[in-house]
Amino acid sequence: MQRKRVFTMWVVFILSLVVATPAFASGRPIALDSGHGGGDEGAVYGSFVERDMNWEITKACRDELEAMGYSVVIVNTSSQNYDLDDRVQRAVNNNAPVIVSLHNNAWDRVSKEKRGCTVLVPNNSSYEGGLYDIGQRFAAEVTGGLKDELGMPLWKDGSYERDYPAGESGSTYPDGSRADYYAIVRYARRQGIFGCIIEHGFLDNASDAKIYKKSDTLKRMGIVDAHAIAAFYDEFCEYADESQAARIASGWWVSSGERWWFRYPNGTYPAGRMAEIKGVTYGFDQSGWMVVGWGKFDGTWYWFDEDGALAHDTWTDDGYYIGSDGSWDQSVPKREAEKQDSPEEKPKAQAKWVRSGSRWWYQHADGTYTTSGWEKIDDVWYLFDASGWMRTGWAKVGGTWYYLRSNGAMASGWEKVDGTWYYLKESGAMATGWQQVNGTWYFLKDSGAMATGWVKSGGKWYYLGSDGAMYVNRTTPDGYQVDGSGAWVN
Ligand SMILES: [Zn+2]
Repeated sequence: MQRKRVFTMWVVFILSLVVATPAFASGRPIALDSGHGGGDEGAVYGSFVERDMNWEITKACRDELEAMGYSVVIVNTSSQNYDLDDRVQRAVNNNAPVIVSLHNNAWDRVSKEKRGCTVLVPNNSSYEGGLYDIGQRFAAEVTGGLKDELGMPLWKDGSYERDYPAGESGSTYPDGSRADYYAIVRYARRQGIFGCIIEHGFLDNASDAKIYKKSDTLKRMGIVDAHAIAAFYDEFCEYADESQAARIASGWWVSSGERWWFRYPNGTYPAGRMAEIKGVTYGFDQSGWMVVGWGKFDGTWYWFDEDGALAHDTWTDDGYYIGSDGSWDQSVPKREAEKQDSPEEKPKAQAKWVRSGSRWWYQHADGTYTTSGWEKIDDVWYLFDASGWMRTGWAKVGGTWYYLRSNGAMASGWEKVDGTWYYLKESGAMATGWQQVNGTWYFLKDSGAMATGWVKSGGKWYYLGSDGAMYVNRTTPDGYQVDGSGAWVN
């Protein structure tokens, strides 16, 4: 492994002398994310469809970067719609030091006065704090280019940071500083790389629209982006390298969904105990997850705040007093007006569905919840999105379509959706092609929709009745004969 690596480095070094491009010198690709995609069109205004315009810009940006000798990894195309955390993960898996998400803006007809380009960049938090400064300068490079080359004015002075709302799960970074609101920016930052979103202009602004309507605008936007990315490429690499080196030297926080664990430099992690990390005491459960709220260690109850830090001299949410050492001070009477059981009963807490507005999530007994995946609850499968919200309607998981009823339950068997019948297998996977149900054959189109009437399959014609059942050894309503296999006898 080591030898091979040295050899590879020499090859790369020699290539870099020949080709003399920085990308070859480092080898790390630039990750481009074409905003929205698949069924998500993004902003739509008149003939403008953001999803498709983002893709045109992305392709032009990729072509220009590749022409300059950089390698590019596209983490989402216009026909894909990966979850935002997956897009960042794909960038990280490809060793990209940067992910740039390409978008176009609109304000829903209300804001004729809103126009221009801006870059959504990392906020001024202390976690991976160096990214803030890079973001400010990179945004100036991008928007300055769009202004000079295309006459696009700057929106919000060309850069914009937004904080995650306080008090919500995931609202802070591991060091307690305020997380970024925009998922691409936030997830990238958590992984120690630079992430940003370029909003090239407002589709619903008449002045911006004039610029968009010029035939080569999208291509030129992509080229401007490419040159800005190239100008910062070395800095992106340097930052990612230093961030990674610092993590390896001191250990680092690793997130899974909204939960955290801490990885020591040697690969081990604290579990079933409290541990001090960079001056702050945290609790870790038996599996190594960082504890939020009550945690019991060596027979004593402690309280950890929403960022996982051991609390001192404070009241818990459920009305108990926490002493100076962070433990439950049982000599102080419980505070009035607060309900709940004593912490001794806490671990018996029941898992429950929690509603927020019109959406639902499922809280496990230990307060955690499933994100980006399936969970079987009371014998019914449910699917949760990256933030832990229960999904409804159609969902594509690993290339397979599933249907979640309005109550979240995964459908199996026949299901009528918007007037069309679909067949979901026992696994929940939407069936296509021939499907035998209770001895009767049905044909499901590529869209999953149950076919009726004539269909051609394997070079032969078959007839499906209005209930979808294949005719066998019968005469069809239009007077043709089908045999025992259902095929038309001609
Ligand atoms: Zn967008």
